[in-house]
Amino acid sequence: MDKEVQKKTEQGKIVRKKTTQKAVQKTAPKTVQKTAAGKKAVTGKKTAKKSAGGKKMSDAKKKKKARRILISIRLGLVLLAVFFAVLTVIKLVKPSLLAKDYFEVDSEKVDDSMPAIDVELLTVNPYSRPGTKTEKIAGIVMHYTANPGATAMANRNYFEGLKDTHTTKSSSNFIVGLDGEIIQCVPTWEMAYASNERNIDTVSIECCHPDESGVFFPETYQSMVKLCAWLCLKFDLNEKDIIRHYDVTEKICPKYFVEDEKAWENFRKDVKKAMKKAG
Ligand SMILES: [Zn+2]
Repeated sequence: MDKEVQKKTEQGKIVRKKTTQKAVQKTAPKTVQKTAAGKKAVTGKKTAKKSAGGKKMSDAKKKKKARRILISIRLGLVLLAVFFAVLTVIKLVKPSLLAKDYFEVDSEKVDDSMPAIDVELLTVNPYSRPGTKTEKIAGIVMHYTANPGATAMANRNYFEGLKDTHTTKSSSNFIVGLDGEIIQCVPTWEMAYASNERNIDTVSIECCHPDESGVFFPETYQSMVKLCAWLCLKFDLNEKDIIRHYDVTEKICPKYFVEDEKAWENFRKDVKKAMKKAG
């Protein structure tokens, strides 16, 4: 019983084994073929798709990149145009904004508004014309001579004499006389000794007066207005940039404009009007 069972079992095993082998033989090649073919086919398709897709992608990327570069160039050009447009507007409207150092507006308007000036420059000397270069002109400072009845030329000669007398350091870029004459003693690009710490960035104007009151003759006043309007246009300033010596040091100068605030306001208004007239 035992042997038969064993044989049977063995046979059964063999049979089973054979069957399994056959089954394997029958099925295996097909599966392998299929799988191989399938894999090959699938892999091939995928690679083709991938390479086609890759080309498309890289083309798209290139196009995107080109577009970005084009947009950047256009944006750059637009910004450049805007920059130059703003620069042109500033040059026309407020040219002094672009200037760091001494600067003058060069225009027909400035030339046309220039009053008659007698240029009688002082000798360069440490007491009245040090030859120091002014900075960008930021204001105009008004003074009175505190020397009643003295003419513009007399005041100019006093400044010139300081190079020999050495009594003090004093001068002014301009002096407006009793008859409205204007004398220039120091170029506007050079410092005069008149307005203390503001000498370096302002232009100074001394004004003659007939008596102790410090009130100016109408001729003097008119020339002061004309001179200030011209200087404002020349240095791209407005009437508010015209100040009194008093505003720098609280010295009572010019006496008339310190004691009569309304007269001072009116003077600035008159300069504004003169500037508009010139424009
Ligand atoms: Zn003064």
